[in-house]
Amino acid sequence: MSHPDDTGRDDAGILARRRMIFDDIYRRGVRDERVLRAMEDVPREQFLPPELQDAAFEDRALPIGAGQTISQPYIVAYMTEQLDVTPESRVLEIGTGSGYQTAILARLAREVYTLERIDRLCEPACRRLEALGVANVRFRCGDGTLGWPDAAPFDRVIITAAGPKVPPALLNQLADGGILVAPIGDEQDQRLLKVQRYGPRLIETPLIAVRFVRLIGESGWKE
Ligand code: SAM
Repeated sequence: MSHPDDTGRDDAGILARRRMIFDDIYRRGVRDERVLRAMEDVPREQFLPPELQDAAFEDRALPIGAGQTISQPYIVAYMTEQLDVTPESRVLEIGTGSGYQTAILARLAREVYTLERIDRLCEPACRRLEALGVANVRFRCGDGTLGWPDAAPFDRVIITAAGPKVPPALLNQLADGGILVAPIGDEQDQRLLKVQRYGPRLIETPLIAVRFVRLIGESGWKE
């Protein structure tokens, strides 16, 4: 595990993140410079329990408690690139988990609204982002398959747990010109889906195969 020096710099941590970004993200095809810079800036180790911080820069999902995981760095980068977040975007994220993906989105977007259904994950995620000085994120604990109607519409929607279909409420809350990225499928077979809204039309593009924890809720899987 790396540690900041007296000046607050954490050179070993920065080097480890750069290596991960080149080996696991850039080489696999993610080229959006804003995404790569955000991945370099956010200290992934701070989103993990102490005993797992040494594994922070390995390209794999890791447990964060309550049977949930922090997503694999390549998948975080890939989904964020597909989402095409701009500095004006208002983003809705379903599945806060550790708050790592939230922190990446917050560096790229105007505002992020993030929803997590498990109470005991919400509070620590909120504290981690506060500790990093992130001020453009709103947190809510509840069933994200229903979205965040009082803050809709959203320019971008990202779901970080796999459901049987895209929850209709989230499509309704997607703004004209908006993009949604979500894993769809069951425990055995999942694929990322990108949905773009053009007025009343929704254009769906299947992306890569993935493996996420289940989206549980009214328009997700049953618990
Ligand atoms: N992106 C997160 C990170 O960087 O740590 C990882 C998210 S984890 C793979 C998926 C999260 O979705 C879990 O924390 C899970 O509790 C949450 N989740 C599942 N169903 C949900 C729902 N209906 N509403 C909100 N969160 C949900």
